[in-house]
Amino acid sequence: MAWRCTGSTNAELIQNMAKAGIITSDRVIAAMSKVNRSHYVRHPRTAYEDSPQPIGHGATISAPHMHAHAAEDLLPFLKPGARVLDVGSGSGYLAAVFYHLIQDPADPKSADGKVVGIEHIPELVEWSVENLRKDKLSPALDEGKIKMIAGDGRKGSSPEDGPFDAIHVGAAAPTMPAALIEQLARPGRMFIPVGTHAQQILQVDKDESGNVTETPLLDVLYVPLTDRDKQM
Ligand code: SAH
Repeated sequence: MAWRCTGSTNAELIQNMAKAGIITSDRVIAAMSKVNRSHYVRHPRTAYEDSPQPIGHGATISAPHMHAHAAEDLLPFLKPGARVLDVGSGSGYLAAVFYHLIQDPADPKSADGKVVGIEHIPELVEWSVENLRKDKLSPALDEGKIKMIAGDGRKGSSPEDGPFDAIHVGAAAPTMPAALIEQLARPGRMFIPVGTHAQQILQVDKDESGNVTETPLLDVLYVPLTDRDKQM
């Protein structure tokens, strides 16, 4: 499954993920089609390979099929006006996809939507902003609808940015970070890899009354959600 969706263009990569059944929603196809992966990798030659690629500082841009799984899983919570947190935002790729998913020019609620990316390597935060600008998202950045911040994502974002309808975590947490569950809206959903040697994606759902349930989705291998000085 992991590498089979490689394409020669962005459109072909997305088409291959749809054929493989990894993407089933037209909304995800539309959003991922607006984000050209070549703006978010270090070597554009490898942009449409369905594999994770090093982006420096001990980080990787996740494989396209994992970005697709995340968008598909969080989709019911990615509506116009939603607030989204991307922890370990790295290249900025998913912040862009989430932004397109919460924007609908025909829906006035879109004005309230916001994507916050939090990443603990300041150089990567700067690079992700450059990438988003290359991908024509300067207006969203300038209006504060996409906000990329440097910080320890295990603690979540500043409370005034939340609570979040959807939280994506792009690095594996050794144990479930309580602060992130705290910042989930009621209802809200988090997609998070948890574990050290063996890791699993957990879907964490918080319902209207604040009850939290965890559903394991798939076995994965992510870089760790860790301290900045332990990453290199
Ligand atoms: N989802 C991103 C990056 C995935 S790699 C993408 O696809 O481009 C995981 C990222 O998590 C790395 O950029 C790493 O620097 C970051 N990270 C690891 N621990 C973190 C922490 N405690 N707080 C914030 N970011 C962290």
